[in-house]
Amino acid sequence: MLDLTLIAASGPVAHDVHHGRHLIGGRWCDSADGATFDRHSPSHGVLVSRSARGGTAEAEAAIAAARTAFDSGDWSRTTGKARAAVLLRVADLIEREAERIALFETLETGKPITQARGEVTGAADLWRYAAALARTLHGDSHNTLGADMLGVVLKEPIGVVSIITPWNFPFWILGQKLPFALAAGCTCVVKPSELTPTTTAMLGALLAEAGLPAGVVNIVLGHGQPVGATLARHPQVDMVTFTGSTGVGRAIAAAASATLKKVALELGGKNPQVIFADADLDEAADAVTFGVYFNAGECCNSGSRIIVHADVADALVDRVVALSRQVAFGDPLNPATQVGAIVSAAHQDKIDGYVRDAVAAGATLRLGGAPLRVEGLPGEFYQPTVVCGVTPDMPIAREEVFGPVLSVLTFRTPDEAVALANDCAYGLSAGVWSENVHTCLDFARRVQAGTVWTNTWMDGFPELTFGGVKQSGLGREIGPYGLEEFLEVKTVAMRVGRTRAPWVKTR
Ligand code: NAD
Repeated sequence: MLDLTLIAASGPVAHDVHHGRHLIGGRWCDSADGATFDRHSPSHGVLVSRSARGGTAEAEAAIAAARTAFDSGDWSRTTGKARAAVLLRVADLIEREAERIALFETLETGKPITQARGEVTGAADLWRYAAALARTLHGDSHNTLGADMLGVVLKEPIGVVSIITPWNFPFWILGQKLPFALAAGCTCVVKPSELTPTTTAMLGALLAEAGLPAGVVNIVLGHGQPVGATLARHPQVDMVTFTGSTGVGRAIAAAASATLKKVALELGGKNPQVIFADADLDEAADAVTFGVYFNAGECCNSGSRIIVHADVADALVDRVVALSRQVAFGDPLNPATQVGAIVSAAHQDKIDGYVRDAVAAGATLRLGGAPLRVEGLPGEFYQPTVVCGVTPDMPIAREEVFGPVLSVLTFRTPDEAVALANDCAYGLSAGVWSENVHTCLDFARRVQAGTVWTNTWMDGFPELTFGGVKQSGLGREIGPYGLEEFLEVKTVAMRVGRTRAPWVKTR
């Protein structure tokens, strides 16, 4: 008998089926060939959306519209004040529509409704923050080049930006990119994941209502092939920003290299949390539990790899297992639910495969380790799972499982902890737990990661930039650096007065 906290189906699903269309040059349209694709809810099995399935023609039309809009200067050369005003209106409209957007976010991803609401209102805050940045945009001046010279460094929008997003936080991740690109003055073509097209399409309608000129943001619904691939390689695109898997990130970088366009990548992670013997184990256990189950572990920042001092490993794992039994898994539409459905059956099999392989290689299951049945729901759920005795060579310790599965490794010395943390192709985020500030600082400086949390996990703010090192990505999002990504730098060197000595010695 599983001693877990389960929330059964809590009632019928009340929603309309969303009919998604492309937004190209300010017009909503179907695909020329009439193709569509369906998305069913991974928790409830019901049809959530039927969307136009874009092809190369739609992707190219959207790129052409973005190019025309950029070159017209209507957005790219307008004032920061005017851009900020539009972004602020978008934030207000997102809040007005938050409940409907959150419902479709939940239905397409399987995540709990309370977390979808948080994601949507959090995204509105990203739009507000980007609006503030739009008014701070400036370059540099150089007044020390001599009495006869003045140098000015201009920041200019990079141009047409392709934005390709994944399914795990569709609305939030779009908010990490689009308002920053717009604040910089860029025009965009957006392709959401084929598993979660709807909330991006909903945002498109709000952009027009907020007064964004036609063609500044274009949306093409569809699959990686051919839509995403066209957005990555097209010569009229100046930059591609992508969030998703490391494998597809590599393909995008390769496609973009033909025209040497700028590439920004937010990829996977295998994020270690190191727990020293002097840590507050109650605090750490709660944060570990949150870090591994949040978004069903389908999270680039999942704290899926615990590296705990051998002296406290049993005590920590006991606490995590006890807490795991109290985390509410089940119907994502019930506000009490903390962990919802796995995004697809194929992904559920992948998660289960990692667990079974680890057990076959000698790891032990302290909790879970199998699919979970939730009463009244046909969808895919996975048990909260704690795997002990994991060794660094096992795939479960090195690769992204992207499920509610915790791997536990142990260490004895600080050097060993740092070596284990860094023994990974990824470098997205890391955490350290100790009551000694020197221990935390030493770890923070030595770990290879884009973000380090000390005595906490996964706190994020629009002000704090985010991104990965090693194979977790290229470039940074949000914060002031998030705006810089979308800017090109131009140097203007100016002579003051007729002071230039002639180069040609005239006879
Ligand atoms: P994915 O790479 O399969 O797909 C992401 C997007 O790329 C989708 O829109 C997809 O249609 C598109 N795509 C697929 N093939 C393409 C191609 N050849 N050319 C262009 N586009 C293509 O990723 P996913 O399964 O949707 O998302 C999960 C992954 O995203 C995980 O690895 C996760 O770690 C990562 N992720 C990273 C971050 C971060 O900020 N670092 C955040 C969220 C998710």
